[in-house]
Amino acid sequence: MTAFDISRYHCTIMLDRLPDLIDPLEFAEKKRRIVGSMPLNTISRIQDMVLNGEAEAKVDLEFKKEGRRAIVSGWVEADLKLECQCCLGPLDWPVHSEVHLGVVSSIDEGNLLPETLEPLLLDETGVIDLADIVADELLLAIPAIPQHSHCASPKTETNSVDSRENPFAVLAQLKTIR
Ligand SMILES: [Zn+2]
Repeated sequence: MTAFDISRYHCTIMLDRLPDLIDPLEFAEKKRRIVGSMPLNTISRIQDMVLNGEAEAKVDLEFKKEGRRAIVSGWVEADLKLECQCCLGPLDWPVHSEVHLGVVSSIDEGNLLPETLEPLLLDETGVIDLADIVADELLLAIPAIPQHSHCASPKTETNSVDSRENPFAVLAQLKTIR
């Protein structure tokens, strides 16, 4: 018996490329789970905030029904490189965000959700850009002013700056030699 029984491996849909537009209500009816990754530079609201756009956000989302409500649960994960607003150097910022969304079609309906669920508001098209869900989760985890911890406390950093030779002083010396 050499045949490889691939059907056993199809419980979870592993995708090289995640779908752009998804219909959360249909996915919930069909109890779909999507697992895959999405390059950061394809997420428009994120691409300008990170230095490593070539890196990927990993996504594992399960769609299901709880009573009449469609639920999206799972996680979004990415190793972001942000730009330190102090030294402009790269700042490693790993993000793991748990996703608990209740699908709603109005703000009123969103207000009725239990506190454990964030509203995922659908417009009349009924479809939503998966990148928007991922962007929402990542943006929540990105600080308003990204900073290295050692940059935030000036004590340790000023010493090394002071001890460095001022490049303009060197230029001034060269001028006087000529
Ligand atoms: Zn810094």
